[in-house]
Amino acid sequence: MTATEEVNERQARQVAEQAREAQWRQPSFGKELFLGRLRLDLVHPYPRGPVEATERGEAFLSRLREFCESHIDTTVIERDAQIPDKVIQGLKELGAFGMKIGTEYDGLGLSQVYYNKALTLVGSVHPALGALLSAHQSIGVPQPVAMFGTAEQKRTWLPRCTRQISAFLLTEPDVGSDPARLHATATPDGDDYVLNGVKLWTTNGVIADLVVVMAQVPASEGHRGGITAFVIEADTPGIVVTNRNAFMGLRGIENGLTKLTDVRVPAANRIGREGDGLRIALSTLNVGRLSLPAVCTGTAKWCLKIAREWSTERVQWGRPIGEHDAVAGKVAFIAATAYGIESMVELAGELADAGRTDIRIEAALAKLYGSEMAWLIADELVQIRGGRGFETAESLAARGERGVPAEQILRDMRINRIFEGSTEIMHLMLAREAVDAHLSVAGDIIDPEADLKHKAKAAAQAGKFYARWLPTLVTGKGQLPTSFTEFGPLAEHLRYVERASRKLARSTFYAMSRWQGKLEHKQRFLGRIVDIGAELFAMTAACVRAQRDESDPATAAAAVDLADAFCRQARVRAERLFGELWDNSDDSDRALTRGVLAGRYTWLEDGIIDPSIEGPWIAQEGGDVTDDVHRVIR
Ligand SMILES: Cc1cc2nc3c(=O)[nH]c(=O)nc-3n(C[C@H](O)[C@H](O)[C@H](O)COP(=O)(O)OP(=O)(O)OC[C@H]3O[C@@H](n4cnc5c(N)ncnc54)[C@H](O)[C@@H]3O)c2cc1C
Repeated sequence: MTATEEVNERQARQVAEQAREAQWRQPSFGKELFLGRLRLDLVHPYPRGPVEATERGEAFLSRLREFCESHIDTTVIERDAQIPDKVIQGLKELGAFGMKIGTEYDGLGLSQVYYNKALTLVGSVHPALGALLSAHQSIGVPQPVAMFGTAEQKRTWLPRCTRQISAFLLTEPDVGSDPARLHATATPDGDDYVLNGVKLWTTNGVIADLVVVMAQVPASEGHRGGITAFVIEADTPGIVVTNRNAFMGLRGIENGLTKLTDVRVPAANRIGREGDGLRIALSTLNVGRLSLPAVCTGTAKWCLKIAREWSTERVQWGRPIGEHDAVAGKVAFIAATAYGIESMVELAGELADAGRTDIRIEAALAKLYGSEMAWLIADELVQIRGGRGFETAESLAARGERGVPAEQILRDMRINRIFEGSTEIMHLMLAREAVDAHLSVAGDIIDPEADLKHKAKAAAQAGKFYARWLPTLVTGKGQLPTSFTEFGPLAEHLRYVERASRKLARSTFYAMSRWQGKLEHKQRFLGRIVDIGAELFAMTAACVRAQRDESDPATAAAAVDLADAFCRQARVRAERLFGELWDNSDDSDRALTRGVLAGRYTWLEDGIIDPSIEGPWIAQEGGDVTDDVHRVIR
């Protein structure tokens, strides 16, 4: 497909499907969960990293904490919408840009668990700091080079990445969730490629030294073509940042619009083969997706601290507000959910470090769940703070009160539900994995393009598979009151997870049989399936973590309390979702939306003024340079 060809839905799906890692070389807790099998043996006993990794991680965390406490004033970041140069320099000197880079390349070589903890820490200070470090390390140059680079590429770039900043350039004005439409081109020319295109919302792009660019190589003789990844020096002639974008939150993020005009790049800068770009991006995200929920964990913990302090301090109607039932419910939600998100991120991190399982589903569930829940938590904090929740920290401080940035954290958390895979796209991606077992046996039955012979073969195959698999979903350990007893009071929750996992798989099977190929269009149904899976994974993570902590007298009872509370809340949500699978307004909503889009109800929009500034919805060329927006930090 050439860059300029129009892309229909089927082609878009094909591109996503080709980039998807189809193989499962290692067992996956998440995949099994969606198939109705609670494989507790994959996560329990709780995996633990080597002592040396813990010591190294703790030593770095204390240096990082000391730096954040003494050198970072978040009100300056909010006021100037910029992270001060000296903060960026200080982070570089600490080695924070090379946390995940191996020591053989001058990095800190931290484990995934400690990388996550570091992001939790800096993210709690200001989420823009989390974005700065994670855009560089989780999606920027280091991770794809470490995973897919040649020995030479690793030697060239990884040591630089410990002290320089990189960015990841995929999105374009017309290319968001659907990379099949990618317009940027990389045309082979001798030993080089010549890149042209416009890249939007490049986090760190304004201050980057190196960038990873995704561009389409046209297929030609000797060139396989396709979306391809390149590492490029940000000061290469032809690269211009034409705008520094500003957002509702994450003030301080150095996010740009980058134009590439005849940018000449040596073939040695290509990562992987031509056409491997999306696969590289997705594989990088397999673990990279944990960064964002790690930042969300920091927010959840901070919200808990403020909710606790304020709900005790603030007295209304004769009592501290935390003693009023409505507020108490919010505090309980924040506390339990902070525990749930942290447990998910921690467990997925430990699994990533242990390297014995495939964690792509767990990391994606943590991203989806962490971002949705952190948003709800921040919203509840604003509510608990009342009018002060809506007031800026600066204004509160100016009139002599503690400057609590609750409104800022709500603004900062909003983007997490959109970038690195929006909630809707995460639902689709995870649903794809959840129904993968069905598709791999029954795929041709529901494929509208498969011929009758293939359909018949698929039907026979599927019949055999379901004859074996369905009976396993009828009964299980979760029905035995004596199962999981080593978990004490949490055993009943794991029994629930086991039962619910089978029910989830049965529901998916019913849906497949009922809607067949049309299931993929039932996005809200699939979204609920995935959300139930996320609750079940979070419950499991909370239980195994609390059980691990039982040996620690300082937290033992309290951990069980939190895990128990989290599981009770999660079960209520999961049951609601199970009910909504079959009892919902999806069909009538679809009909209503058709009417809305056809303009049947425009009269409802009367009586307002639209304050939007005139302009096209999408500016393909991204506008001209209006200012010198390229900020250099070296
Ligand atoms: C602050 C910020 C930082 C960013 N950083 C980077 C970066 O560093 N590098 C980079 O390359 N990009 C970056 N992005 C881009 C980001 O990843 C995209 O915004 C995101 O992928 C969504 O794309 P879009 O905004 O074009 O939305 P669209 O794809 O246009 O989607 C609009 C809405 O439709 C939904 N939708 C789209 N397709 C489907 C579908 N098939 N089914 C159901 N719903 C669908 C989406 O979920 C969304 O709700 C950043 C964006 C922002 C705002």
